[in-house]
This record gives sequence, C-alpha cells and structure tokens, in this order.
Amino acid sequence: MEANNFIEEIINKDLESGKYDEIITRFPPEPNGYLHVGHAKALCVNFGIKQKYNGKCNLRFDDTNPTKEDTEYVEAIKEDIKWLGFTWDEELYASDYFEKMYDCAVILIKKGLAYVDNLTAEEIRLTRGTLTEGGKESPNRNRPIEESLDLFQRMRNGEFADGELVLRAKIDMNSPNINMRDPVIYRIVRAHHMRQKNKWCIYPMYDFAHPLEDAFEGITHSCCTLEFEDHRPLYDWVVDNCDIEKKPHQYEFARLNITRCIMSKRYLKSLVDNNKVDGWDDPRMPTICGLRRRGYTPESIKDFCERIGVAKANSELDIKNLEACIREDLNLRANRVMAVLRPIKLTLKNYEGVEELEVENNPSDETAGTRKITFSKDLYIDADDFALVPPPKWKRLSPGGMVRLKGAYVITCDEVVEENGEIKELICSYIPESKSGMAGSDDKRFKKVGTIQFVDANNCYKFKARKYDYLLKEAEYPGQNFNELINENTIEEFDAVGEKSLECAPFGSRFQFIRLGYFIKDEKSNTFGQIVSLKDGFKK
Ligand code: ATP
Ligand code: MG
Repeated sequence: MEANNFIEEIINKDLESGKYDEIITRFPPEPNGYLHVGHAKALCVNFGIKQKYNGKCNLRFDDTNPTKEDTEYVEAIKEDIKWLGFTWDEELYASDYFEKMYDCAVILIKKGLAYVDNLTAEEIRLTRGTLTEGGKESPNRNRPIEESLDLFQRMRNGEFADGELVLRAKIDMNSPNINMRDPVIYRIVRAHHMRQKNKWCIYPMYDFAHPLEDAFEGITHSCCTLEFEDHRPLYDWVVDNCDIEKKPHQYEFARLNITRCIMSKRYLKSLVDNNKVDGWDDPRMPTICGLRRRGYTPESIKDFCERIGVAKANSELDIKNLEACIREDLNLRANRVMAVLRPIKLTLKNYEGVEELEVENNPSDETAGTRKITFSKDLYIDADDFALVPPPKWKRLSPGGMVRLKGAYVITCDEVVEENGEIKELICSYIPESKSGMAGSDDKRFKKVGTIQFVDANNCYKFKARKYDYLLKEAEYPGQNFNELINENTIEEFDAVGEKSLECAPFGSRFQFIRLGYFIKDEKSNTFGQIVSLKDGFKK
C-alpha cells in the first residue's frame, strides 16, 4: 500500500515487520464542546487509516475532566461524526476504565514509582524548575510505599479535601523534559461526572489516562497533535511501567490552523456563552455543525482535509483553501437561479406580455436539466449592476448604456427616475432581435456587452438574504490573541428577490445565485445565507 504521509509510512513498516496484523486507531474527543474543522482533520487521519488498512477506529470520549464535560457534547459529537460519513467500531468512554486506571496507579505505587504528595498545586509548580534548571524533590518523594498505598486508598474514599493530596509519578526531577519531573497523575476533585455520577472523587490526569486508554483498547497507532510531542516520553513511561502487554505508540501530526478561524473549543464556547453567536451551529462558526448550517457538504470538508495532507510541522492555512473546496463541490451540485440582493426596479417601456424562457439549471452538470422562468416588462436588477457614472471598463448598465439580461434580451437604459437623490426606477427598452440563442443575438453591436441577472417582478419571491464576514479580523502576527481580533458586525442582511421557485425550495437546499455566490436556505434564521462567494482557486 502506498503511503500518503509519514504515519502511513510507519504503519507500512509495522505491517511488513509483522509487528501488528491489525491496525487500530481511535478518535478521542473530550466532550467539553462541539467539534470544529480541526477535529475533522484528526477524524480524517484516524478514520482514513481504518479505511485504508481495513482496520478499526474507536470513538473514545476522553471524559476524565468532569467539571467541563456534558452529555450534550457527547450527542453533538456523535451526530457530527456521522454526518461527516465516518463509522466508528466501538463507542467507548475513558471513565469506564477508572477502576482499571486506579489499579495501574496502585501498581506504580507498589513498584516505588509513584507517591502521594502533600504539596499544593502552587508548591508543585514552584519546585518544578525551568528549562535551564532542574526541579526540587518533594519532601514526600521517599514516603514509604505502604504509606502511599494507604493514603491513595483514603484519597479515593473521600477522606481528604479537594487538592489536599495528589499522586505523583516518581520519575526524575532533573529530567530535561519538564513533563517527566514527577508529574501529578491523580488529583482530588469533587465533581459530578456525567457518567460516573458521584462515584469518584479522584480523577486521573490526561498524561496518565490517555496511554492507558490506548493500551486497554489495543490501539496500535495513537495519533495526536504536535503539542503532545513533549508528552510522549511520559506516555511511554506509563505504558512501560503499568505492565501493559501490547504497547501502543503515539505519533504526532501538525495541528490544523486556519486564518481568521477560531480553533479552540474553549474559546468557541465563550462566544456561545456570551451570546456573540447564535449557538454552536451559527453559520459563522468553524464548528462542524456551523459549517453544516452554513452549507458546507461533508465531501467538501473531507476533500479539504485530504488536500492539506498530514504534516509534521505546524502552519497556518489560508481560509480561502477551505472555501475553494466547497465552491468546487457546489459548482457541480448546486442549481443556478437568478436573484438580486439589492433590487432596483427596471421597466421595459417597449415590452408587452409575458414570455417563458428555458434556462439551464447547471452548465457544469448536463444531467441537471433546464427550468422555465418568466420575463415581463417589470423586472428587478441588482443596484450593484447599475452606475449613474460608470467607471472605466464598466460592463454593466449605465444611463444610455447596454447590457444583456441573462438568457433574455439586450436592453438599453433610457431614463433614470430619481427621488430625493435615490434611484427609484430605470426606464429601459429591449432589443427584440437580441434574444439569447437567436441568430440576431450574435450581432457585432452586442459583442462587448456584459451580462447581468434579473428577476421578473410579476413572478418573484421576496426573502431575506445574509452575507457573513469572518468572526476574526486579519491577524497582525501569528498566534495573536483572539480577543484582540474579534470582528464586530459580521452579518449583512438584504431584502432580496429571486425566482419564484425559491419559495418552495426545502430548507437546507443550496443554490448558486448567478454572479453572487452560493446560498443555502437556512431554517433557523429563515434566510438565504451565503455559503461562499464565487471565484478563487485552491492555493497549494
Ligand atoms: P480544543 O483545544 O479545541 O479543545 P482539543 O485538542 O482539546 O481541542 P480534543 O477533544 O482533546 O480537543 O481533541 C480530539 C482530537 O482532535 C485530538 O486527538 C486532537 O489532537 C485533535 N485535534 C483537536 N484540534 C485539532 C486541530 N486543530 N487540528 C488537528 N487535530 C486536532
Ligand atoms: Mg483536549
């Protein structure tokens, strides 16, 4: 099997050498928020390996931090993963292993590799040392094994207050890796756990719990993001010292960062909690459910993850690359319709009656067929397509100028009706022999004429449309704090008009509004929201 990235290269070697005969990965979200597009990358990595190697991938909720976790998030995470089209083998919860983890901690104490410490969190921090200086050993480091065993049991029994005691691994206070300087592996927290209720008042720390979770499930390749690279020695230490037979290994890949995008559950949650957005699925949010409501397809998100690949070095990707993926996808699947966001009335003084025009639904998909639209003397065009004083090279309408109405006729603008300095109506005339598809439409008079969309005012649907801006302004330097970058006023609303057919389009249906962009009919806001504008390509 050809490897597409460094993790697959490792897997290939492990299969060739006979180290494993089945590859098992996992996706381990903490149920403390909704998934975002960064998680989509981790999902693609882990489920991609499952698919490619015909292996397994578990969905494991890393629920070891009871104060932040909730079943609401569990349900939302499952829904999002299903929507993306991934199927997990087992649904597992780290908390189901608490008893086994406790046993592992006892093994460490018995081996003299863990001790109960009375130092406070602050004291532990202060004695941890720095990158250039070693740490200071705790006075409790050499506490007799029997005493630590007894205290640890009593920590579990609830005999001590929160934070009064901790269990620490006994490794090396002078290790150049600060994570190895006797890290805390259990703490006392009295909190209601979403699954364990009040059964436990001690909870394992991530660095102790995660390798054990992987080990208990027989995970072969534990893929996580780069910030855990420095934790790998501790991961291996836990696996090596807890009598684990089949040892999992951790591999780190680059985190996905995207410009103008908040990629932290904690921060996204604060936007939700402070009502800065309309919930986790606000169309401006980079959450999976936000992208779904915005109009992204699962295919476009997975395509994006595939194109960016799996790298070993962190970088920040331009959001335009994500947008290019949905644009490409919708180009093939979204039907075209005509709509205008800022309607101005246009009257054809020499036109009588109504005619039906047959127009293509999607020029990029010949199976998409055609539809009929109507044309009459009362039309709307977009205010953006008219200029009283046209700039150079203007290809749209202006006083005395010519433009083609898409799929219909070339018109000329004869008169502009203004009221209090505002344009109220454009009086125009149409040129009968210019009809699209007819012999006369090729006349050299029309060669340089631009084309704009229109809506028949006698047969139209009026609706609210929205365009969104990014929640973040452009950063001045990498890693700039989100708080400094919050973009105010990121929804622009329009009183739009479009083809009548839009009225009965089901919620969730997506269209290309010709010349304007792709839009989705959103149920929650009862508007057509812009998914993405037209133009732009994928930048490698
Ligand atoms: P956040 O900081 O947003 O809360 P997290 O890493 O704490 O993210 P988890 O629920 O612990 O979120 O993540 C589950 C998995 O998704 C982990 O393996 C993590 O490495 C991965 N992941 C999270 N964010 C990204 C990202 N931006 N790019 C790639 N993978 C990510
Ligand atoms: Mg986390």
